[in-house]
Amino acid sequence: MRKRFVVFRCPVCGKFTYAPLGQKTRLCSFCGKIIRIDARQAIVVDDAKQASFLVKRYNLKGGEKNYLETLKAQKKELLNLIEEVEEVPESSYEGKEVASSSKTRRMFIMLKENCTNPINIDELRELCKKYNLEWDWVREQLEVLSKEGTVIFPKPWLLQYISDETVEGYVPKKRPSRKKNSLYQVKNLRKALANVLKGKNEPVSYNELVEILKAKGFTLDEIEETVRKLSMEGLLIEPRPGYFLWIGDY
Ligand SMILES: [Zn+2]
Repeated sequence: MRKRFVVFRCPVCGKFTYAPLGQKTRLCSFCGKIIRIDARQAIVVDDAKQASFLVKRYNLKGGEKNYLETLKAQKKELLNLIEEVEEVPESSYEGKEVASSSKTRRMFIMLKENCTNPINIDELRELCKKYNLEWDWVREQLEVLSKEGTVIFPKPWLLQYISDETVEGYVPKKRPSRKKNSLYQVKNLRKALANVLKGKNEPVSYNELVEILKAKGFTLDEIEETVRKLSMEGLLIEPRPGYFLWIGDY
């Protein structure tokens, strides 16, 4: 069976977004906050494509009415689903005391030890216990680090630590530098693409977009992949074939 998804509203900015069913946390693409997903206020759909479609629709003017109607109709089925999902036990980590190091340092150690490859934010939340950190505090730090580019979100529910900044007394594991470069590349491309589109008040043709980004040194493959991903995340829409409009916030 395909993975089901939920469409829900960001409790901070009110924009609609989506996540895999069972996921408890994600980054809001609109306001940049790491948010909790309230499954009770979510619409369950069969796949990511449908979720992405509904996100675009609900975020349009008047789309909220549509959401509320569907939510009402789905309520009963949803309650059963939630029970199903919540029966799955959360993985728990033993509360290993990490010396008496400072909070910030413990957080960086946690990131270095566990997050140099993408990690599900739900899992990271659990990990905080092991490092004796409060999730609410960590979440705020991560939002700041994501603005600096120290952590990135390959998907809105996956987090990855990409800085090589050393923490005093901690020797980071060596990582191949090629991988790091390509991550920076992806991040820069997302930013460059957003900037091009945000600079225009009307949809930009795909060809024009490709020309501008190629001139900045990105390859066609990278551009195609990034456009596809940003559309999936509901940050881009294609109001008419071959034309793209930015609807995300960053
Ligand atoms: Zn938001």
